[in-house]
Amino acid sequence: MATCATCSGELRPEWRFCVHCGTAVTPTAVDDAAAEALPRVNPIAIIALILACIGGIPAFVFGHIALRQIKQTGERGRTIAIVATVLGYVWLTVGIVLFLRFANGL
Ligand SMILES: [Zn+2]
Repeated sequence: MATCATCSGELRPEWRFCVHCGTAVTPTAVDDAAAEALPRVNPIAIIALILACIGGIPAFVFGHIALRQIKQTGERGRTIAIVATVLGYVWLTVGIVLFLRFANGL
């Protein structure tokens, strides 16, 4: 049971004022709602970015998965996913070019 901050009298949840002293009661439920966290960052977008940073070609696959999930869930991390996807394609291009050079050199 909640108590009044002014007179320490017992308060019912539906009361907006303390019946003992007349002090306005601040509903704690409103404070909880205001403290609600922002949408989380999509974890696959972070994995994709890590892969992209270490030169991992699968980054573009994870980037596409992350972008699809972000579209469906409204999570954060869309920019991270786009950067990872683009870097993944860059690494893929570099990989193909190096492979062709190596193959032609034989
Ligand atoms: Zn009171």
